[in-house]
Amino acid sequence: MANVADTQNILVLGGTSEASELVKLLARQRIKTILSLAGRTRNPVLPGIDIPDANFSYRIGGFGGITGLAGYIRGNHITALVCATHPFARTMPFNALEAAKISGIPLLYILRPEWKARAGDNWIEVASHKEAIQQLITNAPQLKNIFLTVGRLEIAEYATAPQYFYIIRTIDDVKDKLLPNALYITDRPPFTVENERNLIREHKIDVIISKNSGGCATEAKLAAARESGIPVILINRPPRPAALHVATAAEAIACIENMRQNYGFNR
Ligand code: NAP
Repeated sequence: MANVADTQNILVLGGTSEASELVKLLARQRIKTILSLAGRTRNPVLPGIDIPDANFSYRIGGFGGITGLAGYIRGNHITALVCATHPFARTMPFNALEAAKISGIPLLYILRPEWKARAGDNWIEVASHKEAIQQLITNAPQLKNIFLTVGRLEIAEYATAPQYFYIIRTIDDVKDKLLPNALYITDRPPFTVENERNLIREHKIDVIISKNSGGCATEAKLAAARESGIPVILINRPPRPAALHVATAAEAIACIENMRQNYGFNR
């Protein structure tokens, strides 16, 4: 007879450190798990799983919308879905909700907490890149050097404000250098406060523009900005489905166990 681990088949929608951590925890329990990545990062870091009998696999690339995802769930006998995409992923959380409904399987979200301002922070919170640029133009036309850490795929938004000099840090190098007035740096998180402090000093950074991604890996820039007395323009998160959210992989494991007891996961 199949044991509990054999009857579960969990699809984790990843692209975050929380997703990687979750699949490692599931592998330890020998629960069948598929990690799905969108394929945006050229050399994605896959979770290192050195458990010989772990039932882990991964796939890369979109599913083809809600129906594609529902078809994948059906075709691969998925018993539960965990959406652990990035806090700024706008589409997948909603697709996951609909696909889980169509498929009649439980769904859980992992969403890391937002960064919260501390004493000494000078944050300007905005809803979009457009608003971030507007803030620069109206409140800080005299500023010059902007540290832009919004991700490779969103840099182009700043082409409408070429009067500033941008220090742009991305994981993969930027092929279409649409901002000519810029220094392009590639580096992979985590970053230390010392690293960020040096960057601010070396490039005489006047302001940082960042998304409120949350998490430890890229938080050091906020501490360095606080120390250096420079402002941070912080882009707030897009809306999320009103559904069950947890903040960490460990909490997700507890929820998955609850789901197993409630749904049975036997197919
Ligand atoms: P998105 O708007 O939610 O997704 C756009 C499309 O990409 C989805 O409709 C889906 O294509 C595909 N997709 C997204 N996540 C996927 C996954 N885990 N597995 C397979 N396909 C996926 O997200 P995005 O902003 O384009 O980001 C793409 C991925 O990069 C996400 O997985 C996210 O976690 C990660 N990421 C995003 C950011 C960010 O700031 N946006 C930062 C770091 C990492 P189909 O409709 O064809 O299924």
